[in-house]
Amino acid sequence: MLRQFLSKIISLCTVSRYREANPKVSGRAWVLATLVLFSTIVSASEKIDSVRVWQAPDSTRVVFDLSGPVAHSIFTLDKPDRVVIDLKGTLRTKALFSIDLKDSSIAKVRSAMQNKQDLRVVLDLKTPLKPKSFLLKPNAQYGHRLVLDLEGSVASVKAGNAASSKTVSTATPIKKQQKRVAGGRDIIVAIDAGHGGEDPGAIGGKGTREKIVVFKIAKSLQTELNKRKGIRAVLTRKGDYFLKLKTRREIARKKLHADIFVSIHADAFKNGKASGASVFALSRRGATSTLARVLAEQENQADVIGGVSLEDKDDVLAGVLADLAMEGSMEHSLTVGKYVLGEMGRVTKLHKKHIEQAGFAVLKSPDIPSILIETGFISNAKEERNLNSSAHRKKLSKAITKGITKYFEQHPPPGSKIALRKSTEALYAKHTIRRGETLSKIANRYQVSLATLRRVNAMSQVDIIKIGQTIRIPNS
Ligand SMILES: [Zn+2]
Repeated sequence: MLRQFLSKIISLCTVSRYREANPKVSGRAWVLATLVLFSTIVSASEKIDSVRVWQAPDSTRVVFDLSGPVAHSIFTLDKPDRVVIDLKGTLRTKALFSIDLKDSSIAKVRSAMQNKQDLRVVLDLKTPLKPKSFLLKPNAQYGHRLVLDLEGSVASVKAGNAASSKTVSTATPIKKQQKRVAGGRDIIVAIDAGHGGEDPGAIGGKGTREKIVVFKIAKSLQTELNKRKGIRAVLTRKGDYFLKLKTRREIARKKLHADIFVSIHADAFKNGKASGASVFALSRRGATSTLARVLAEQENQADVIGGVSLEDKDDVLAGVLADLAMEGSMEHSLTVGKYVLGEMGRVTKLHKKHIEQAGFAVLKSPDIPSILIETGFISNAKEERNLNSSAHRKKLSKAITKGITKYFEQHPPPGSKIALRKSTEALYAKHTIRRGETLSKIANRYQVSLATLRRVNAMSQVDIIKIGQTIRIPNS
């Protein structure tokens, strides 16, 4: 066998040298010689079927779809920055030549066979990045995968390209917002568009992907919420990339210092007839219905499909659920969920008239109200059409905004603009000026001095009032 192998190598070298010396020898003969050689000595049996690259604000994920489990190793090189991935017994395939690298931190992908049986893939990077890799076993959506996470900000890549532009941090610090500000701070709503990147979420009959429509709804909801004074909405996921369920909660709580977490979904059910929107809160015990349990199980699969390495498994359940703080935030989740469901019921069909509960991992924040909105069933033909309509998405967004605003009008967080406005409102009554009224007549009627009336309405000595104008009357 060894002798046969060596003789093939020698024959290859001979052909090669012969070809260099005789450029006129037909290319076909050369290819044939090479093919014969490969078919006998190559023992590489696995191959890369496809490669996907997902760019997140502070990391790049490269996913290799493999024909089977493959032993691999990685290392980095600098000047220029590179990541090298060695895959044992793997063939060099076409998949490596058509990788979409747009806007990613990877400049180029190169590959070569080593010892005729192992594959070496070299990623040329635009900036130094920290690689982490792990293998994933097959699931409902994918076969064997090798995931390579390159940690580091793409913002620094862009800044590097345009030397004059400042580095734009994607993690806008909102902490300042939380400090005591004269006039109060904005209430922060974290909008979490479900799924993303490797995880497409549910897929409709017409091929609509949940991750795409829910991102559009999230953006539309952000626009509607930001029209409200004293409310600021921020997205946890800003593009098409995967976020772990745990990371979604952490972004909301630690990075955005959110006052509420709203996760947006559009799920599928095996029965295509299932229809209507639902709102969910976390349940500490069992689910309130079979559907709630099934959907929670489906949603919690996101980490498996999107790809999480073993050491990153989300184990918050046990610890956090024992926490009493959870009780309080769950009660608030039910209240806000009820308001949102009520408003949604005016613009779309509801699956059930009451808020449901199940063990959704993404809702396990101990200290902020968290709800998950299933905006409709993507598995239902009519609802899939609706979800693809921007007019319908806008209607949903307006309704959700109304529900959230109603909740914060009743439960404004201390120090927020809405809380301050409400405490000011409590000090004064309002009076709308009618024909024939003068300021002194009004003062008389409410038994306050003219001077007080002028002061609380910031008026000068010359009392100019108009019909229809609203003025403040101190509540004695
Ligand atoms: Zn979903």
